[in-house]
Amino acid sequence: MADDSIAVVDLDSCQPDRCNYECANYCPPNRTGKECITTRGEDADEGDPDQIRISEEICLGETCGICVEKCPFDAIEIINLPQELEDDPVHRYGDNAFSLYGLPAPQEGRVTGILGPNGIGKTTAVRILADEITPNLGQWDDEPDWDAVMDEYRGTELQNYLEELQEGSVTVARKPQYVDRIPDRFDGNTRELLEHTDERGVLDDLVERLSIGPVMDQPIDSISGGELQRVALAATLAREADFYFLDEITPYLDIGQRMTAARLIGELTGTDRSVLVVEHDLAILDLLADSLHVAYGEPGAYGVVTGPKSVKNGINEYLAGYLENENMRIRPNAIEFEEHAPRTAAASSPLVEYPDLTKSYGDGEFSLTIEGGTINENEVLGVVGPNGIGKSTFAELLAGELEPDEGSVDARLDVAYKPQYIEIDQPMRVDAFLSSITNDFGSSYWDTEIAQPLQLERIMEQNLTDLSGGERQRVAIAACLSEDADLYVLDEPSAHMDVEQRVQATSAIRRYTENHDATALVIDHDIYMIDLLADRLLVFDGEPAASGHAGTPVGMREGMNSFLADLDVTFRRDERVGRPRINKPGSQLDREQKRQGEYYYA
Ligand code: ADP
Ligand code: ADP
Ligand code: SF4
Repeated sequence: MADDSIAVVDLDSCQPDRCNYECANYCPPNRTGKECITTRGEDADEGDPDQIRISEEICLGETCGICVEKCPFDAIEIINLPQELEDDPVHRYGDNAFSLYGLPAPQEGRVTGILGPNGIGKTTAVRILADEITPNLGQWDDEPDWDAVMDEYRGTELQNYLEELQEGSVTVARKPQYVDRIPDRFDGNTRELLEHTDERGVLDDLVERLSIGPVMDQPIDSISGGELQRVALAATLAREADFYFLDEITPYLDIGQRMTAARLIGELTGTDRSVLVVEHDLAILDLLADSLHVAYGEPGAYGVVTGPKSVKNGINEYLAGYLENENMRIRPNAIEFEEHAPRTAAASSPLVEYPDLTKSYGDGEFSLTIEGGTINENEVLGVVGPNGIGKSTFAELLAGELEPDEGSVDARLDVAYKPQYIEIDQPMRVDAFLSSITNDFGSSYWDTEIAQPLQLERIMEQNLTDLSGGERQRVAIAACLSEDADLYVLDEPSAHMDVEQRVQATSAIRRYTENHDATALVIDHDIYMIDLLADRLLVFDGEPAASGHAGTPVGMREGMNSFLADLDVTFRRDERVGRPRINKPGSQLDREQKRQGEYYYA
């Protein structure tokens, strides 16, 4: 018996009619006549009667794991829980289902952050705090009871909040994670969507500061992801609520817009409102949150929400891969940033040299000028700048999809392009989709270089239409890198990926360019991802939607300085781990660094 282990069966994958119960046939306790793996039976709460259930009392635990190996559909996980987890879960969805340990504690007048991977139970925790789920303390067979939960949390940070929740006096406003799905649920224009939300009488101010004005009269299904994100933020922040939950605020926003969103959220908590944010852009999370809970575990199987930490310690411990109070290693390696010496690009031969270029749209409504430059073979060129400034236009000029008005680009360049907004909605399985793109699909080379680093194995049999945002992003990156091309252009690969996935995707892109004599141009607004990824920078500036300008590609120090000077933002280094942190505007360090012209590698 292994009472510290859990068995999780993914009921979407378990298909007994196709495997003939390989798991049960090989399970050692079953073979000695015990009922370890059985069928759910007619009176099971969830699943088909023929699907399996695993007795956690009888199961031998992770060291056995035979059923995990035998299951052809990867439907089973047997996991030894960390010994540090002494308590029962707060909630378990059912027999052999996901369980959540611990809850974040919203605090009046404060912004509480949650940092952790997707699928770890963050939404489950919020649904509990919003009184949409009454936690069952792991006893899914019993009627859940708030009194038992209160007993469990008496004397903790959560006591006050749970008391108010029990009295039914907590109101909640929530911004969903996937803003791209809003048009499926709302028919009408932006003004109509926003008009019923203005419970605090602040909508005009929000519309102005989030620059929503230009799209107020446009149909919701015609506006871009970045615009939808700002509309959804305004719709949530305009509500009158005790508890605001914001599930990712940064996807599709540029850094200036991210900072504005952070400022608006900070202002909201001036009263007794509490805000909980899930955010994977660590520079913004650092700026935004007053305290932080780290979430770890095994996505889809179990999640643990730690007690509150200072934001600085929480992020540092997360990056180091080791949680100090919990004495818990959550990753074998630390994520590290180069502190003082930005990489200087190794001399390599040029892939493309382009002259000064110009391009304008319509009657010069938008005009772009690009200074001539060179993109080198095997380099990752980071591209930074506000939205609407011409970055995608430049990528299309390189790809030969657009003709410049002045200058010309070597048209022999093969470009593979991952757009910012991914449209892969065919009713097709992931494996069929990817094998239609490359003959290398399934080769050990492709598995090592692409499928493993992008964690595609578990989603190969799913339909493209059923993927989560982070899964869709990984498939789109894989599809782009699998093409045979000279230049891989990736537009905002970080969107909807959690921090782990960003780091994995970063190393996949870097490795791929190094081993494949390929060159990548990566447009992203997550400064940590750009720092980890880029050898040199291409900086765009100008007036969004009116005129854009791109300099020639430059080294990281020069590029970061010119980009951040334009944004008026400086970074300092965390003294312990060398992580870049945004300086408070007007602080002594901020002023000193601006005086020296060192915005990033100070
Ligand atoms: P996150 O917000 O961290 O991405 P979620 O809280 O949405 O994670 O989900 C955590 C896990 O719980 C997922 O594996 C999900 O499939 C599972 N889950 C969510 N809702 C249910 C439910 N109603 N029944 C069973 N499992 C669920
Ligand atoms: P970025 O990638 O930096 O967000 P884009 O290159 O997509 O910027 O767009 C720059 C500007 O050009 C935006 O104002 C956009 O609305 C406009 N634009 C882009 N494509 C077209 C087009 N085909 N016709 C007219 N205007 C366009
Ligand atoms: Fe049976 Fe699987 Fe547990 Fe091994 S790990 S005892 S095969 S249920």
